[in-house]
Amino acid sequence: MKKVRVYSGIRATGRLHLGNYLGAVKGMLALQGTYDCIFSVVDLHTITVPFDAKTLRHSVRDIVLDYLAVGLDPEKCIVEIQSKVPQHTELAYLLATIYPVSRLEDLPTYKDKKLQYPKYVNMGLLYYPILMAADILLYKAELVPVGIDQEPHLEVAREITRKFNSMFGETFPEPNRFKTNGEYVPSLAGTGKMSKSIEGSFINITDDLEAITKRLASAPTDSGKVGGNLPQEGGVANLFKLLSLFSSQETNTKFVHDFNESKIQYSELKKTLASDIYNELQPIQERRRNFEQNQSFVDSIIEEGATKSRKLAENTMFEVKQKMGLL
Ligand code: ADP
Repeated sequence: MKKVRVYSGIRATGRLHLGNYLGAVKGMLALQGTYDCIFSVVDLHTITVPFDAKTLRHSVRDIVLDYLAVGLDPEKCIVEIQSKVPQHTELAYLLATIYPVSRLEDLPTYKDKKLQYPKYVNMGLLYYPILMAADILLYKAELVPVGIDQEPHLEVAREITRKFNSMFGETFPEPNRFKTNGEYVPSLAGTGKMSKSIEGSFINITDDLEAITKRLASAPTDSGKVGGNLPQEGGVANLFKLLSLFSSQETNTKFVHDFNESKIQYSELKKTLASDIYNELQPIQERRRNFEQNQSFVDSIIEEGATKSRKLAENTMFEVKQKMGLL
């Protein structure tokens, strides 16, 4: 029986942080081995925001190392670098011809990026969701382990799927998001989501205990509210959210109780949280050091991933071109 395909990717805009880890990577880990998985470092998405060409190659490799360190197993999944499979952009162009520009201009992610980089509003940015749809459809993936922030992009991918199938005949399955407990990891800065591109918002999976402690120390706790029910948003809510994702039930109960009773010590909460986060990250960091010592193994994983992905991609492109009358 044909296995369900899974696809997901992470940009090489910085080191993996807890949002990437909980929202995307945990889902990848849960699915590898059971399904046909392709996990990508999406370097072509990376260059839609300001980047440094001199360091891009290293940043891409860093994500591959992070992938291996967190436990993605090349025996159970394909680890791909997007630009090594040219069919991603080829399919994106073909899909772009059936999708309206106005819909892309309306997407919240595009609007956010426009505000974030007002001097860097390029076609690639507008085109992002089309390329993402192509990434997924290229492998006919049905499950996509990504954070909740990617839902609007997945909706575009589904719209494109339906449009393509209705215009050229049933070709692609509709992709759905695979959800994890950490589908939305909040920023340490108090508002918005944790993101690589927002300084002060994140904890990296390579951070040591000291760095984690320092980052948590600057997380705001003045909610203007003490005692009673936990606030729903803001710095305090975010700390409790992280506590629920990394600490035991017992620890959570204790600090919720302390908050309810107006005797919460945020320094104590942050210390406990830092230590619980580090306990989860420490084995990952250990594995990463081993892979760093074995660069030729990493090279072989990258080459093998490219070969396998291209083969799958060629099959889809042949079918797509035939259906569109290009072959
Ligand atoms: P970033 O937003 O940090 O630049 P990417 O855009 O490369 O990260 O996203 C990579 C993956 O990580 C996506 O699946 C995305 O949904 C997920 N992700 C990013 N930030 C978060 C977050 N704060 N919470 C949950 N998932 C997240």
